[in-house]
Amino acid sequence: MRKNHKYCSVLFLIFILLACGPFAHGEVRVSIKYEDGANYPPFTCVQDGRLQGFNTADYSATYSAGDPETVYGIKKGEIDKEQNHTQVLLFFEAIAVIFFVIVLLQIYIHYLKKKIRKEHSFSDGILNNANVIILVWKTDGTIVTFNKYASEVTGFLMSELAGKQWLSTLIPKEARPELLKAFRKLIRGEAVTDIEGRIICKNGSRLDVLWSNSILFDEKGDAEYVISTGINITDRKVAEKKLQESYNELAATYEELAAAEEKLKNQFDEIRAKEEAVRRSEEKIHYLAFYDTLTGLPNRQLFEDQLTKALAQARRTGKITGILRVDMDYFKLINDAFGHSFGDTFLKEVADRLKSSVREFDTVSRFASDEFAILLPQISEIRDVVEAAEKIVRLFREQWTIGEKEFYSTVSIGIALYPGDGQDEKTLIRNAGAALYSAKTLGKNNYQLYSPGIDMLISKRLELESRLKRAIERQEFVVYYQPRIDIKTNEMVGMEALVRWLDPSRGLVPPMEFIPVAEETGLIVPISEWVLHTACSQCKRWNEEGYGPFNLSVNLSACQFEQKSLKEMIERTLAVTGCKPQHLELEITESLAVRNIEMTVKIINELKELGIKVSLDDFGTGYSSLNYLQMMPINTLKIDKSFVRDLNENSNQEAIAEAIVVLARRLNLNVIAEGVETEEQLRFLKEKGCDMVQGFLFSEPLPVEEIDRMIRQGHKFTKRGR
Ligand code: C2E
Ligand code: MG
Ligand code: MG
Repeated sequence: MRKNHKYCSVLFLIFILLACGPFAHGEVRVSIKYEDGANYPPFTCVQDGRLQGFNTADYSATYSAGDPETVYGIKKGEIDKEQNHTQVLLFFEAIAVIFFVIVLLQIYIHYLKKKIRKEHSFSDGILNNANVIILVWKTDGTIVTFNKYASEVTGFLMSELAGKQWLSTLIPKEARPELLKAFRKLIRGEAVTDIEGRIICKNGSRLDVLWSNSILFDEKGDAEYVISTGINITDRKVAEKKLQESYNELAATYEELAAAEEKLKNQFDEIRAKEEAVRRSEEKIHYLAFYDTLTGLPNRQLFEDQLTKALAQARRTGKITGILRVDMDYFKLINDAFGHSFGDTFLKEVADRLKSSVREFDTVSRFASDEFAILLPQISEIRDVVEAAEKIVRLFREQWTIGEKEFYSTVSIGIALYPGDGQDEKTLIRNAGAALYSAKTLGKNNYQLYSPGIDMLISKRLELESRLKRAIERQEFVVYYQPRIDIKTNEMVGMEALVRWLDPSRGLVPPMEFIPVAEETGLIVPISEWVLHTACSQCKRWNEEGYGPFNLSVNLSACQFEQKSLKEMIERTLAVTGCKPQHLELEITESLAVRNIEMTVKIINELKELGIKVSLDDFGTGYSSLNYLQMMPINTLKIDKSFVRDLNENSNQEAIAEAIVVLARRLNLNVIAEGVETEEQLRFLKEKGCDMVQGFLFSEPLPVEEIDRMIRQGHKFTKRGR
């Protein structure tokens, strides 16, 4: 303020001095020596430079008050003398001007200083108020200066660092190479992005700093200083670290969560899988509970359910419900012969054949092994059920071809009808079963309708079965022998062993009464083995006694025929009894032989390997084709007695018998006719070329004692040789 007063007073003084200037001009007097010599009055030079009181047209002169050195131009005279009363004043005026200039300069300098100071304080303010580290260092690395903030955060004073190397002082060892590299690039003028690094504080702690740098160049354009501006990012770093940690934690939690979710998902999947498995097993259980796994047919349980519904419907509609119980004849033999897997395939085929033979809404069910049941609901007439049964029996008589195997297997069917044969499911199923049993007993391959008499038949059969078992234990069987006569010589050339049951309560029971039951129950095996053993012993004795040579034929049951140990059993029997194989002939029925031709051929070959002969019994009843006949390596064909019986009354039978004889001849087989009872029959057979006969005409089957007696008496027969 004081300074301002000073300038003001100086300026005022200068003003005064300058103000006197014009007055000094007014007092300049110029005397001129004119060319014309005239003495003109002096003139006064006025301030605007014009000469007053003077004829200006004759003179020219210029004047400037500011320049006392000004030369006046005189054209018509010369300035004679100049009375300059203002010289002192002009001097002062000059000094005033100098002062003025000096003062002005002073003011300007003052202004400049003030401005510089202001700028300095402004930049210092910026520098020291900046919340960033500002570090200025020379390109040789020595620290020039740094700001207040840098001092605050590092703890260093300017005096402690000035002139020191910034790198070795402030930068941790491990970060130096990288920073150095970056700064060298920077100095070379290459672009360097912001650098993150750490600095060491006075107390040894470290700060994270984000550096950005700029270069100050000297007048030659060389890098002189580096201004490094560093943002303290320690907090940010800590926050970042914390954030990273939190992130890591979060990531870990997320991972845990994901793992838990995965686990949960797996558990869920497991539960789903278990549920699915439970559902499937429930389905399976349901399927197993109601369906047969092999054939896919409803089982007995489902059949009974269906029957219940059908009966309820029948009660409402007044219609008939038919129940058919179907059983495969000889399934066991097929199963044993070809194996269980083949048996399974066969059962599936049976199921298909049954399904194809009934209506779509009829129920075909598998009860057990080879036993099936068919439910025929909504039937109008009994005849319809019978027709359905007939159709099935007919269908099953056809040949079976499974894979490369061809065979025959028939069915037996028992029928019960609602309402006639029972009111409830249980009774109807049982009565259909009784009818089935009846069909089996009546030779199989047929159907039977239930009748109350069947119950009696069943109880009789059960009784027979238990009595048969007892008979085996008590050895109540005997073997009878029926002579076989040479048709040309009437000589006994052999015998057929035929079993009899000597029942203590009923006397002699013929084989047809117990053999079917024995076959079904398997009791036939021990019976037949015993017969074979007895007959072989007998044969050996007769031959040894010199009555032979006799050929002894023994009947083979279906059960035996299918037994794998048949060959061994026969070998053993021959060995034990001492009977020669060439004296033994085994009879297999035609119906048994054609059931499985492949197996029959195999067994016959095995038997023939032992030296045994084989004959085909009951020929003409088993539907064997000529093709089959020529395949079988048999020795003898036995014409069934049903063809012989009607020989003289029925020309058809004659034709058949003749054809059989011719056929056998062609195939080089021996022919025996069984059941020959009359001379006419004998004559016919003789005429046609039959080799041997067997029948009541010559002899009934006889006990061994009787045969012994006959043999001793000579065994030539001319007529009935009883
Ligand atoms: P098959 O093998 O065809 O036996 C012939 C059957 O015809 C015998 O009946 C016999 O007595 C009978 N027969 C013989 N000549 C005449 C005749 O002139 N007129 C009549 N009407 N019948 C005659 P059998 O002894 O009752 O045997 C019946 C069937 O039982 C046999 O038929 C055979 O298949 C079977 N069989 C008999 N014994 C055995 C045996 O030990 N084991 C096996 N597996 N089956 C046997
Ligand atoms: Mg026989
Ligand atoms: Mg026979």
